[in-house]
Amino acid sequence: MIKSILTKKILYWYDNNKRSLPWRKKLTQIKREYYTLVSEFMLQQTQVVTVIPYFNNFIKDIPNISSLAKINEHKLLKYWEGLGYYSRVRNLKKTAQILEKDFKGRLPSTIEELKLLPGIGEYTANAIMAISFNKPFIPLDGNIERVIKRLLNLKLISEISKENLSRKKKILGTSVRASDYAQALMEFGALICRPKNPLCSQCPLTKNCKSFKNNDFEIIKVRKKRIDKFYLLNVYKKDNKFLLIKNTKFSFLKNLKMFPMDEIPKHNNVKKTLNFKISNMNMNIIIQFIKIKVSIPNSSWIDGTKLDSYTLPTFTKKIFSHLKKN
Ligand code: SF4
Repeated sequence: MIKSILTKKILYWYDNNKRSLPWRKKLTQIKREYYTLVSEFMLQQTQVVTVIPYFNNFIKDIPNISSLAKINEHKLLKYWEGLGYYSRVRNLKKTAQILEKDFKGRLPSTIEELKLLPGIGEYTANAIMAISFNKPFIPLDGNIERVIKRLLNLKLISEISKENLSRKKKILGTSVRASDYAQALMEFGALICRPKNPLCSQCPLTKNCKSFKNNDFEIIKVRKKRIDKFYLLNVYKKDNKFLLIKNTKFSFLKNLKMFPMDEIPKHNNVKKTLNFKISNMNMNIIIQFIKIKVSIPNSSWIDGTKLDSYTLPTFTKKIFSHLKKN
């Protein structure tokens, strides 16, 4: 009974407050599958407002699974430049190729088959089942997790584990409008039950919410500890040209252009290092300038005055701006 009241309240709120997003337009089933696939890959690790222009640009030029399966990788990366986490777009293309070859360009409609596709894990598979196929699945993203934690006022580490939250999501119930309901929950978490300063005065769920009753809105997160890593980065320069290599050595920024670098043991003089956060790492980078003597495999010279004409990851661009300033 309570579950169905919650569902109705959230859907009612959604119908009156949802944002107009390009992947929420009225679409044919084929387009819905493709738009969901692309938007969900882009939304992994990236916020909705950032994704919108990237999504529009991507869909305009790569309008379906077949064109995505065929596009040349260099061109494809251009559409992702600035979004980061490039393994997502490579997996997206691999998935499109499998769909073209084995599924006649459509998405499979079982969660087991979806999870076998590159880049599709538990969350994305649940999102596709709900959003594309209107099946009663609830994808547990950060927004929905937070709504569950607040509704039940969960605080203990054992209470906020993924496993426990997966069990507790049944309090949200299901709806015949499964596609809308999954999106409604995400939207509600993003716009009303926000991480900081939830808008309880506009919330239809105050009567169902233990955090509201207890006046306790703090959210406890299980944080993965970042690992400190140290690198020596080599800058080879000839006039305005800089030598970059295609990265085949490190698991991050795979196959993308970067300055040659090596991992080194912990360096004590951290003041001299440049710091970046990439996935679960705190990268500490020491830069050294080197005169080129030997040829370096997989390398190319990049004109430092025409950086916009190359596909470079943000990491490499940030090194360039640091070099400019110093
Ligand atoms: S009452 Fe406040 S804390 Fe509870 S669900 Fe609504 S917005 Fe979130």
